[in-house]
Amino acid sequence: MLKTKFIAISLIALMGLSSCGGNAQKKEEEQKSETPFDFIAERFGDVQVLRYQITGFDGLSLKQKELAYYLYEAALSGRDIIWDQKYRHNLLVRRTIEAIWNNYKGDKNAAEYKKFEDYSKRVWFSNGIHHHYASDKIMPDFSFGFFQSLLTNCDQKTLPLNSGETADQLANFLKPVMFDPKVDSKTVNLQAGIDNIKGSANNFYEGVTQKEVEEFYGKMIDNTNKTPVSYGLNSKVVKENGKLVEKTWKVGGMYTQAIERIVFWLKKAITVAENDNQKKALELLVAFYETGDLKKFDEYNVAWVADVNSAIDVVNGFIEVYQDALGKKGSFEAVVSIKDEEATKKIETIANNAQWFEDNAPLFPNHKKKEVKGIIGKSINVVIESGDASPSTPIGINLPNSNWIRQEHGSKSVSLGNIVGAYNIAGAKSPSTSEFSLNEETKKRAKEFGNIASELHTDMHEVIGHASGQLEPGIATPDITLKNYQNALEEARADLVALYYIYDQKLVDIGVMPSLEVGKTEYESYLLNGLMLQLNRIDLGKSIEEAHMRNRQLIAKWVMEKGAADNVAEFIKRDGKTFIQINNYEKLRVLFGDLLKEIQRIKSQGDFKAGQALVENYGVKVDAAIHKEVKERFSKLNVAPYKGFIQPRLIAVEKDGKITDVKVEYPTSFSEQMLEYGKKYSFLPNVN
Ligand SMILES: [Zn+2]
Repeated sequence: MLKTKFIAISLIALMGLSSCGGNAQKKEEEQKSETPFDFIAERFGDVQVLRYQITGFDGLSLKQKELAYYLYEAALSGRDIIWDQKYRHNLLVRRTIEAIWNNYKGDKNAAEYKKFEDYSKRVWFSNGIHHHYASDKIMPDFSFGFFQSLLTNCDQKTLPLNSGETADQLANFLKPVMFDPKVDSKTVNLQAGIDNIKGSANNFYEGVTQKEVEEFYGKMIDNTNKTPVSYGLNSKVVKENGKLVEKTWKVGGMYTQAIERIVFWLKKAITVAENDNQKKALELLVAFYETGDLKKFDEYNVAWVADVNSAIDVVNGFIEVYQDALGKKGSFEAVVSIKDEEATKKIETIANNAQWFEDNAPLFPNHKKKEVKGIIGKSINVVIESGDASPSTPIGINLPNSNWIRQEHGSKSVSLGNIVGAYNIAGAKSPSTSEFSLNEETKKRAKEFGNIASELHTDMHEVIGHASGQLEPGIATPDITLKNYQNALEEARADLVALYYIYDQKLVDIGVMPSLEVGKTEYESYLLNGLMLQLNRIDLGKSIEEAHMRNRQLIAKWVMEKGAADNVAEFIKRDGKTFIQINNYEKLRVLFGDLLKEIQRIKSQGDFKAGQALVENYGVKVDAAIHKEVKERFSKLNVAPYKGFIQPRLIAVEKDGKITDVKVEYPTSFSEQMLEYGKKYSFLPNVN
C-alpha cells in the first residue's frame, strides 16, 4: 500500500546530493576523478536504464559485508516469484527469450532480430509480458512467423519444452499469449463496473469470481479483532471441488523451490546478524517462510520495526499489494540497504515533530491520532533490489503495511538516497524542464530548490503522511471498505500531508528547508506533473490506471476546479502551448488541506461511494487535448517516461570455506544482467 513510486520526471536536478561529511565527500571525489561513474546505461522502448553506486559499502566491517552478501543472495533467490505472480505464463516466455539470446544461430544483426531484442528488454524490465506501470500487454514489433524461426533455429535441447513438445508446438502455444492483445490483456485491471479478478491476468486467483473471493475473505475476517493478520497476503486462491481454497506460498507449498533458497540464505544471514533485534527479526522471517503462518509475519514485522540500530537492513517478503485488484496479495520484493547516518538527520527532525504535524493537521479531531507512535525515518543507500522493486524502483518505502502494527508499534519510513541521487544526476540532463516551465522565475526556482523540494516531499509523504490519521471505531480497514480505490486514496492522503506542510513556516523553523520558496517549487512541479507531465506515460485514448498517477491527477484536478472561482491557479496558453500558473500559493495550500480532510474522512469512515466518486471523477479520465499536446512536446525531447536500474553485483571472496571479503562490481549491460539472473536464480518450474 505504501510504496512511493514518485519517479521525479519533473525534477531539475543539480549535481548536489544530500550533504555528507567532509571525509566521505572527499573520498567520493577522489574515486570520481579516477573512474567517473556512468549513471546512464541504456535506452529502449519507453525506458531509460540507469546505474547506482552503493555509497557506504567500503565503510562496512567484514561481518556486515558478509551479512549484506547473504541478504543479497536471498533477495535474488525470490526473483522468479514476481514473474509467476504477475502472469502464469511469464516464466515460460522469459525462458524462451533467454534460450533464444543464448542459442539462436541466425543473424543477430538483422532488423527483425533487433526488434526481438527490444521486446526482450521491455519484458525483462516489466518482470513479465505486461507493462510494469500501465499493466497492458507489451506487443512485439516482429511477426509470429519470425518468432517461429527464432525457435526452430535454436538447439532444441535449450528450449523450455515439455516432454515430446516441438519448437513449433511451443511457438503455437505462445502465439495467443504473446501476440494476441485480447488474451489476458492486463495483469491488473482496476476498471469500474467489471469483475476485477476475471479482468486481471495475474496469477493470484484462478477460476474464481470477484464476488466469490470477497465472500471467501468476508467470512474469514473478524471485524472485532484488533490485531488482524493480513488475510490472503501469501496465497493464490483457486477452486477445488467447487470450494475456494488458498495455495500458500511457503516452504513445502507453492513457490517452495524459490522460498527454500531464500530461507537458505536468510539462515546464513542470521549467523552474522548485527545484534539481537536483527537476529530475532530474521528468525521470525524464516519461520514465516517455513510455515506460511501470517501471525508469524506480523511477529516478524513487529520485530523488524524494533530493529532500529542495525546499519544493514532488509525488506524481503510478500509486501506490496498493487498487483492485486483487491489489494490483498503481496508481490515478492526485496531491498537490502545500508543506513546513511548523515542524510537520516533531516528525516529524524521531521519524525521527531510528528505529533506537532498530527495535532496541526486540517482534519476532524476524531480522525487525528492522539499519540503518534514510533515513526522511524531514515535515509538508506540501496545494495540490491529484487522482485517487484526492480528494475523499476520506489524512491521511498514505508512499512509494514498492517494498520494495527503501524498504530501500536510504529513503522519504518525510508528514503532511498543513492537511487534518488542517481535520478537527479540523470535528470540534470533532461530538457523537459525548459520545455514545460512557466517562465524564467519558476525555472530558476526549480533549479535552486527542485531537489530539496522533492526530497522533502518524499520524506513527509512517508514519515508523517502514511503514518497520520486514524479510523473511527468499528470501521474496517481500507482494503475492505475502499476496495479497488484504497491505494489511490491512500497515496493521495500521504501526498496531501506533504503538500500541506511543505508550504509551512514550521519546516523553516525546524531547519529542514531554507525558505517557503521550496513550497512554491513543490506546488509548481506537483500541478505540472499531475495535470501534464505524467500523461506522457500513457498511450493516447487510454485512462489512468496506476494508483500513484491516479492520486496525482486527482489532487491536481480537484484543486484546480475548487480554486477556479478565486483563480488560485490556471492554465495559460502561449504560442499554442499550455502552461500552469499559480496565482495564490496560500489559497492553494488551504485547498490541499480541504482535500486532505475529506480523504481522511473517507478513510476514517470507510465511505466507499465518496472515495469512488473522487477517484473516478478526478483521477481516471484524461483530458484528450492536453494529453495529445504533452505527448507531442515530449516526443520532440526524446525523454524516456520511465526509468529503472541495473543492479550492482556482490561477489564473495572465499578462503577455506570462509568469506574473507565481499567485492562490488557495477555491470554495464542490462541484458547481460538479465541473462545472468536467468541462469543463476531460476528456481521455479514454468508452471506453478
Ligand atoms: Zn506512498
